Amino acid sequence: MNNILSYKNKNVGVLGVGMSGLAAAKVLLNSSAKVFVFDDFKEKPPTLVESNWVNYQKWPWKDLCALVVSPGIPINKNIKHKAIKLAEDHNVEIINDIDLFMQSKPKAIIVGITGTNGKSTTVALLHHILKFNKIKSVIGGNFGYPACEIIDPGNDGVIILELSSYQLDGASKLTLNLASIINITPDHLDYHNNFEEYLSCKLKIIDFLNDNGTIVYNEDDKLLNQLIKKDKYQQIKIFKTKNINFQDYINDNISLNGKHNQVNASIAISLAKNLNVTGDKIKRSIKSFKGLPHRMETIYVSEKIKIINDSKSTNGESTAAALSSFCNIFWILGGQPKNDGIGAAKKYLNRVEESFVIGESYNFFANQISKNSKNSKLNKCITLEDATELAIKKAQKSNLKEIVILLSPSAASFDQFINFEDRGNKFKEIVNKQLNEGVLIC
Ligand code: ADP
Repeated sequence: MNNILSYKNKNVGVLGVGMSGLAAAKVLLNSSAKVFVFDDFKEKPPTLVESNWVNYQKWPWKDLCALVVSPGIPINKNIKHKAIKLAEDHNVEIINDIDLFMQSKPKAIIVGITGTNGKSTTVALLHHILKFNKIKSVIGGNFGYPACEIIDPGNDGVIILELSSYQLDGASKLTLNLASIINITPDHLDYHNNFEEYLSCKLKIIDFLNDNGTIVYNEDDKLLNQLIKKDKYQQIKIFKTKNINFQDYINDNISLNGKHNQVNASIAISLAKNLNVTGDKIKRSIKSFKGLPHRMETIYVSEKIKIINDSKSTNGESTAAALSSFCNIFWILGGQPKNDGIGAAKKYLNRVEESFVIGESYNFFANQISKNSKNSKLNKCITLEDATELAIKKAQKSNLKEIVILLSPSAASFDQFINFEDRGNKFKEIVNKQLNEGVLIC
């Protein structure tokens, strides 16, 4: 575990005990700091002792050397958490777990990847390319280890940080050698006051590049082309992905199906090239890449029916990517909607045969679908189990030849599930049950 000498015997506050807050507390305790931890909505985790669990109102603010804030707790906004105001009033440095990790002075090359969709896939692919080619690589941040738990792989290694807009918003000490923004479309507007604010958090990744650092992005992305201009960013290099013939690299790896994955792959390939991995070596490694679960994951295939688990799709843009990849779709969607609901997915409703809406917001989704599609058949299902069973039954009766039953919710999962993984795993369990009961044939 990391030991950050500069925190020895210092008082440090940690606000929020999600994965990264808890990791920050552990690293600080390991660094012999006096740690005060609190979370408005959670009980004391069993791994912390009573003396570390103190309401922030009772923290020794005058003697606090830093406040580590968890992602998602607004720091730069009009409505600030009271602990942030207390920190400001007492001139306490406000940092996040990524800053904490940077204070351990890692020697490896650091790559930061952000974007609205595609981060984890791109991070996983780059990690796979590097590992396959015997380059030490560690993943952390929003995916993999919480940043401050990363063990530095050293001079000849690479740290790949997946960075959410919250993490970029909260960081101040990050320095990157390489960075990429995959795409930016409206999301998380409940935290960010508006799209412009969300944009500026994502663009902060460029400010974190060191002099001569490189930003990689997809040249076909109109918004990024407008935003990333050489005259604005003179100290850094700009690397556009267009000059890569990615089809040649991806070949027929089904884990990278769909146009959106071509974008992800071209970014991972460009980053690998910037890390001096040759084209041939990259091609060889991509052959054995297996996609991540819950992202367009094929979980059942028969002659007539394919079942796809895309539970990670929590917004219209990612569901558009899924719908645009198939035809004859029996679409399972719904949950806690984002502001624009199915958003960009509206364009692909002509590929949908029937929709099966789950969760708390049936009327919202039903309205969006019927307004944008003339022949939409809607099924109100409430639970994922009802939706899946009904979709399978209807698909089996249908005269269509090649049907795709697709869970791509375009919504957050928290109304019915712990998170997207829980939702995707339940979906797999339901499909397995249908297999075991002989409803679906192997
Ligand atoms: P993130 O980590 O940014 O959430 P993931 O790789 O986990 O991204 O994918 C999340 C969802 O977005 C999945 O449903 C996936 O199929 C979809 N997706 C992946 N890459 C892209 C992309 N470049 N554009 C749009 N949607 C994407």
